[in-house]
Amino acid sequence: MDFTGKIALITGGANGIGRAAALAFATRGAKVVVVDRDAASGEGTAGAIRQQGGDARFVAADVTKSADVQAYVQATLDAHGRIDCFFNNAGIEGRVQPTADYDEAMFDAVIGVNVKGVFLGLRHVLPVMLRQKAGTIVNTASVAGLVGTPGMPAYVASKHAVIGLTKTASGEVARHGIRVNAVCPGPVDTRMIHSLEAQLSPGDPGVASQRYQASLPTGRYTTPEEIANIVLFLSSDLSGNVTGAQWVVDGGRTATGGAAT
Ligand code: NAD
Repeated sequence: MDFTGKIALITGGANGIGRAAALAFATRGAKVVVVDRDAASGEGTAGAIRQQGGDARFVAADVTKSADVQAYVQATLDAHGRIDCFFNNAGIEGRVQPTADYDEAMFDAVIGVNVKGVFLGLRHVLPVMLRQKAGTIVNTASVAGLVGTPGMPAYVASKHAVIGLTKTASGEVARHGIRVNAVCPGPVDTRMIHSLEAQLSPGDPGVASQRYQASLPTGRYTTPEEIANIVLFLSSDLSGNVTGAQWVVDGGRTATGGAAT
Protein backbone atom coordinates (compact mmCIF):
# COMPACT_ATOMS: atom_id res chain seq x y z
CA MET A 1 0.00 0.00 0.00
CA ASP A 2 1.63 3.22 -1.17
CA PHE A 3 0.19 6.58 -0.05
CA THR A 4 3.04 8.74 -1.32
CA GLY A 5 1.80 12.32 -1.70
CA LYS A 6 -1.71 11.47 -0.46
CA ILE A 7 -3.37 13.63 2.19
CA ALA A 8 -4.77 11.67 5.15
CA LEU A 9 -7.10 13.41 7.62
CA ILE A 10 -7.66 11.53 10.88
CA THR A 11 -9.99 12.40 13.76
CA GLY A 12 -9.24 10.96 17.18
CA GLY A 13 -5.64 10.77 15.99
CA ALA A 14 -4.11 11.68 19.34
CA ASN A 15 -4.47 8.24 20.88
CA GLY A 16 -5.22 4.58 20.31
CA ILE A 17 -6.47 3.46 16.90
CA GLY A 18 -6.31 6.95 15.36
CA ARG A 19 -2.70 7.42 16.42
CA ALA A 20 -1.74 3.99 15.03
CA ALA A 21 -3.46 4.86 11.73
CA ALA A 22 -1.71 8.25 11.57
CA LEU A 23 1.69 6.58 12.01
CA ALA A 24 0.82 3.86 9.48
CA PHE A 25 -0.35 6.35 6.83
CA ALA A 26 2.81 8.42 7.36
CA THR A 27 5.10 5.38 7.15
CA ARG A 28 3.62 4.69 3.71
CA GLY A 29 4.20 8.23 2.46
CA ALA A 30 1.00 10.13 3.30
CA LYS A 31 0.95 13.69 4.62
CA VAL A 32 -1.12 13.49 7.77
CA VAL A 33 -3.46 15.92 9.52
CA VAL A 34 -4.24 14.78 13.07
CA VAL A 35 -7.47 16.11 14.63
CA ASP A 36 -8.37 15.68 18.29
CA ARG A 37 -9.63 17.53 21.34
CA ASP A 38 -6.63 16.20 23.31
CA ALA A 39 -4.04 18.77 22.23
CA ALA A 40 -1.06 17.39 24.16
CA SER A 41 -1.37 13.88 22.74
CA GLY A 42 -2.39 15.17 19.30
CA GLU A 43 0.79 17.25 19.11
CA GLY A 44 2.59 14.10 20.29
CA THR A 45 1.31 12.04 17.33
CA ALA A 46 2.21 14.74 14.81
CA GLY A 47 5.61 15.24 16.45
CA ALA A 48 6.37 11.50 16.35
CA ILE A 49 5.65 11.46 12.60
CA ARG A 50 7.84 14.51 11.97
CA GLN A 51 10.66 12.93 14.01
CA GLN A 52 10.58 10.01 11.59
CA GLY A 53 10.91 12.44 8.68
CA GLY A 54 7.20 12.50 7.82
CA ASP A 55 4.84 15.41 7.19
CA ALA A 56 2.22 15.90 9.91
CA ARG A 57 0.34 18.68 11.62
CA PHE A 58 -2.13 18.77 14.49
CA VAL A 59 -5.45 20.66 14.50
CA ALA A 60 -7.32 20.93 17.82
CA ALA A 61 -11.06 20.38 17.39
CA ASP A 62 -14.13 19.04 19.12
CA VAL A 63 -15.84 16.90 16.47
CA THR A 64 -19.29 17.63 17.95
CA LYS A 65 -18.99 21.32 17.00
CA SER A 66 -19.80 22.25 13.43
CA ALA A 67 -17.46 25.28 13.48
CA ASP A 68 -14.56 23.08 14.66
CA VAL A 69 -15.25 20.51 11.92
CA GLN A 70 -15.36 23.21 9.25
CA ALA A 71 -12.11 24.59 10.69
CA TYR A 72 -10.24 21.26 10.55
CA VAL A 73 -11.40 20.68 6.97
CA GLN A 74 -10.34 24.22 6.00
CA ALA A 75 -6.98 23.85 7.77
CA THR A 76 -6.33 20.70 5.72
CA LEU A 77 -7.28 22.45 2.48
CA ASP A 78 -5.15 25.50 3.36
CA ALA A 79 -2.14 23.26 3.98
CA HIS A 80 -2.56 20.71 1.20
CA GLY A 81 -5.40 21.76 -1.14
CA ARG A 82 -7.16 18.37 -1.02
CA ILE A 83 -8.25 15.45 1.16
CA ASP A 84 -7.58 11.96 -0.22
CA CYS A 85 -8.22 9.70 2.78
CA PHE A 86 -10.51 10.62 5.67
CA PHE A 87 -10.46 8.40 8.78
CA ASN A 88 -13.57 9.53 10.69
CA ASN A 89 -12.64 7.82 13.93
CA ALA A 90 -13.05 9.92 17.12
CA GLY A 91 -15.35 8.24 19.63
CA ILE A 92 -16.15 7.74 23.30
CA GLU A 93 -17.40 4.70 25.17
CA GLY A 94 -19.74 6.28 27.73
CA ARG A 95 -20.71 4.36 30.82
CA VAL A 96 -21.45 0.69 31.48
CA GLN A 97 -25.01 0.87 32.79
CA PRO A 98 -28.16 -1.03 31.80
CA THR A 99 -30.76 0.81 29.75
CA ALA A 100 -33.12 0.96 32.73
CA ASP A 101 -30.56 3.06 34.65
CA TYR A 102 -28.68 4.82 31.84
CA ASP A 103 -27.79 8.41 32.53
CA GLU A 104 -29.56 10.73 30.04
CA ALA A 105 -26.74 13.29 29.84
CA MET A 106 -24.26 10.49 29.14
CA PHE A 107 -26.54 9.18 26.38
CA ASP A 108 -26.51 12.63 24.74
CA ALA A 109 -22.73 12.86 25.09
CA VAL A 110 -22.11 9.49 23.43
CA ILE A 111 -24.53 10.20 20.58
CA GLY A 112 -22.98 13.66 20.22
CA VAL A 113 -19.43 12.41 19.60
CA ASN A 114 -20.08 9.05 17.94
CA VAL A 115 -23.04 9.99 15.70
CA LYS A 116 -23.07 13.76 15.25
CA GLY A 117 -19.27 13.92 15.13
CA VAL A 118 -19.18 11.29 12.38
CA PHE A 119 -22.08 12.96 10.54
CA LEU A 120 -20.41 16.40 10.66
CA GLY A 121 -17.17 14.89 9.34
CA LEU A 122 -19.06 13.41 6.39
CA ARG A 123 -21.07 16.59 5.93
CA HIS A 124 -17.97 18.75 5.50
CA VAL A 125 -15.48 16.35 3.87
CA LEU A 126 -17.83 14.90 1.24
CA PRO A 127 -18.28 18.24 -0.62
CA VAL A 128 -14.47 18.47 -0.92
CA MET A 129 -14.25 14.93 -2.29
CA LEU A 130 -17.21 15.52 -4.63
CA ARG A 131 -15.31 18.48 -6.12
CA GLN A 132 -12.20 16.29 -6.44
CA LYS A 133 -14.27 13.41 -7.83
CA ALA A 134 -12.08 11.14 -5.68
CA GLY A 135 -11.52 10.12 -2.10
CA THR A 136 -11.90 7.38 0.48
CA ILE A 137 -13.60 7.54 3.85
CA VAL A 138 -13.42 5.00 6.67
CA ASN A 139 -15.79 5.54 9.59
CA THR A 140 -15.00 3.77 12.85
CA ALA A 141 -18.02 1.76 13.92
CA SER A 142 -17.63 -1.32 16.14
CA VAL A 143 -18.95 -4.84 16.47
CA ALA A 144 -21.34 -2.98 18.80
CA GLY A 145 -22.76 -1.60 15.55
CA LEU A 146 -23.73 -5.12 14.50
CA VAL A 147 -24.93 -6.81 17.70
CA GLY A 148 -26.34 -5.68 21.03
CA THR A 149 -24.09 -5.33 24.07
CA PRO A 150 -25.99 -5.38 27.37
CA GLY A 151 -24.93 -2.42 29.54
CA MET A 152 -23.91 -0.18 26.65
CA PRO A 153 -27.15 1.17 25.12
CA ALA A 154 -25.79 4.55 24.03
CA TYR A 155 -22.61 3.13 22.54
CA VAL A 156 -24.47 0.35 20.71
CA ALA A 157 -27.08 2.78 19.34
CA SER A 158 -24.33 5.16 18.24
CA LYS A 159 -22.32 2.51 16.41
CA HIS A 160 -25.43 1.10 14.67
CA ALA A 161 -25.97 4.69 13.51
CA VAL A 162 -22.39 4.92 12.17
CA ILE A 163 -23.09 1.88 10.01
CA GLY A 164 -26.32 3.49 8.78
CA LEU A 165 -24.48 6.71 7.90
CA THR A 166 -21.80 4.67 6.11
CA LYS A 167 -24.28 2.69 4.02
CA THR A 168 -26.25 5.81 3.10
CA ALA A 169 -23.28 8.01 2.16
CA SER A 170 -21.63 5.18 0.21
CA GLY A 171 -24.62 4.95 -2.12
CA GLU A 172 -24.83 8.72 -2.55
CA VAL A 173 -21.25 9.16 -3.78
CA ALA A 174 -20.26 5.84 -5.37
CA ARG A 175 -20.65 7.21 -8.93
CA HIS A 176 -18.41 10.18 -8.03
CA GLY A 177 -15.28 8.13 -7.36
CA ILE A 178 -15.68 8.18 -3.58
CA ARG A 179 -15.81 5.09 -1.37
CA VAL A 180 -17.20 5.07 2.18
CA ASN A 181 -16.66 2.06 4.44
CA ALA A 182 -16.87 1.22 8.13
CA VAL A 183 -14.36 -0.66 10.21
CA CYS A 184 -15.92 -2.68 13.05
CA PRO A 185 -13.35 -3.47 15.74
CA GLY A 186 -14.01 -5.86 18.58
CA PRO A 187 -12.06 -5.09 21.77
CA VAL A 188 -8.81 -3.28 20.96
CA ASP A 189 -5.92 -2.70 23.34
CA THR A 190 -6.38 1.06 23.86
CA ARG A 191 -7.33 3.44 26.69
CA MET A 192 -10.99 2.86 25.83
CA ILE A 193 -10.99 -0.86 26.59
CA HIS A 194 -9.07 -0.27 29.84
CA SER A 195 -11.74 2.25 30.89
CA LEU A 196 -14.41 -0.38 30.27
CA GLU A 197 -12.40 -2.99 32.23
CA ALA A 198 -12.18 -0.58 35.17
CA GLN A 199 -15.95 -0.07 35.11
CA LEU A 200 -16.65 -3.83 34.92
CA SER A 201 -14.18 -4.76 37.64
CA PRO A 202 -13.47 -1.60 39.69
CA GLY A 203 -11.30 -3.36 42.28
CA ASP A 204 -9.12 -5.21 39.80
CA PRO A 205 -9.35 -4.25 36.12
CA GLY A 206 -6.72 -6.91 35.36
CA VAL A 207 -9.28 -9.60 36.20
CA ALA A 208 -11.80 -8.16 33.72
CA SER A 209 -9.07 -7.93 31.10
CA GLN A 210 -8.03 -11.57 31.51
CA ARG A 211 -11.63 -12.80 31.53
CA TYR A 212 -12.55 -10.75 28.48
CA GLN A 213 -9.51 -11.76 26.46
CA ALA A 214 -9.97 -15.44 27.35
CA SER A 215 -13.55 -15.23 26.05
CA LEU A 216 -12.35 -14.27 22.57
CA PRO A 217 -11.74 -17.06 20.04
CA THR A 218 -8.18 -15.86 19.37
CA GLY A 219 -7.63 -15.34 23.11
CA ARG A 220 -6.43 -11.76 22.87
CA TYR A 221 -7.39 -8.17 22.12
CA THR A 222 -6.72 -6.75 18.65
CA THR A 223 -3.84 -4.28 18.55
CA PRO A 224 -4.43 -0.69 17.30
CA GLU A 225 -1.91 -1.42 14.54
CA GLU A 226 -4.01 -4.38 13.32
CA ILE A 227 -7.02 -2.05 12.99
CA ALA A 228 -4.85 0.54 11.24
CA ASN A 229 -3.81 -2.08 8.66
CA ILE A 230 -7.45 -2.63 7.69
CA VAL A 231 -8.12 1.13 7.62
CA LEU A 232 -5.21 1.57 5.21
CA PHE A 233 -6.43 -1.32 3.06
CA LEU A 234 -9.92 0.23 2.86
CA SER A 235 -8.28 3.58 1.98
CA SER A 236 -6.06 2.11 -0.73
CA ASP A 237 -6.59 1.10 -4.34
CA LEU A 238 -6.31 -2.54 -3.23
CA SER A 239 -9.95 -2.26 -2.07
CA GLY A 240 -10.94 -0.41 -5.25
CA ASN A 241 -14.55 -1.67 -5.55
CA VAL A 242 -15.30 -2.03 -1.82
CA THR A 243 -17.84 0.51 -0.58
CA GLY A 244 -20.63 0.53 1.99
CA ALA A 245 -18.94 -2.40 3.76
CA GLN A 246 -18.64 -3.19 7.46
CA TRP A 247 -15.21 -4.70 7.98
CA VAL A 248 -15.10 -6.76 11.19
CA VAL A 249 -11.76 -7.11 13.03
CA ASP A 250 -12.58 -8.85 16.30
CA GLY A 251 -10.56 -12.02 16.84
CA GLY A 252 -13.53 -14.10 15.71
CA ARG A 253 -15.92 -12.87 18.41
CA THR A 254 -18.96 -11.89 16.33
CA ALA A 255 -18.76 -14.87 13.99
CA THR A 256 -18.92 -17.27 16.93
CA GLY A 257 -21.53 -15.44 19.00
CA GLY A 258 -18.85 -14.35 21.45
CA ALA A 259 -17.91 -17.91 22.43
CA ALA A 260 -14.32 -18.94 22.93
CA THR A 261 -13.10 -21.94 20.95
P1 NAD B 1 -9.06 6.25 22.52
O1 NAD B 1 -9.82 6.78 23.67
O2 NAD B 1 -7.67 5.78 22.71
O3 NAD B 1 -9.06 7.32 21.33
C1 NAD B 1 -10.18 8.09 21.02
C2 NAD B 1 -9.72 9.47 20.62
O4 NAD B 1 -10.87 10.26 20.25
C3 NAD B 1 -9.01 10.20 21.77
O5 NAD B 1 -7.78 10.73 21.33
C4 NAD B 1 -9.99 11.30 22.14
O6 NAD B 1 -9.37 12.47 22.66
C5 NAD B 1 -10.70 11.56 20.82
N1 NAD B 1 -11.99 12.21 20.99
C6 NAD B 1 -13.02 11.82 21.79
N2 NAD B 1 -14.02 12.71 21.73
C7 NAD B 1 -13.62 13.69 20.87
C8 NAD B 1 -14.21 14.90 20.42
N3 NAD B 1 -15.44 15.29 20.84
N4 NAD B 1 -13.54 15.67 19.54
C9 NAD B 1 -12.29 15.30 19.12
N5 NAD B 1 -11.67 14.18 19.54
C10 NAD B 1 -12.32 13.38 20.40
O7 NAD B 1 -9.95 5.05 21.96
P2 NAD B 1 -9.80 4.12 20.67
O8 NAD B 1 -10.02 2.74 21.14
O9 NAD B 1 -8.60 4.46 19.89
O10 NAD B 1 -11.12 4.56 19.88
C11 NAD B 1 -11.11 5.01 18.53
C12 NAD B 1 -12.42 4.61 17.88
O11 NAD B 1 -12.50 3.17 17.87
C13 NAD B 1 -13.67 5.09 18.61
O12 NAD B 1 -14.64 5.50 17.65
C14 NAD B 1 -14.15 3.84 19.33
O13 NAD B 1 -15.53 3.86 19.58
C15 NAD B 1 -13.76 2.77 18.34
N6 NAD B 1 -13.67 1.42 18.89
C16 NAD B 1 -12.80 1.12 19.87
C17 NAD B 1 -12.76 -0.17 20.39
C18 NAD B 1 -11.83 -0.57 21.50
O14 NAD B 1 -11.99 -1.66 22.06
N7 NAD B 1 -10.84 0.21 21.85
C19 NAD B 1 -13.64 -1.15 19.88
C20 NAD B 1 -14.51 -0.81 18.86
C21 NAD B 1 -14.52 0.48 18.37
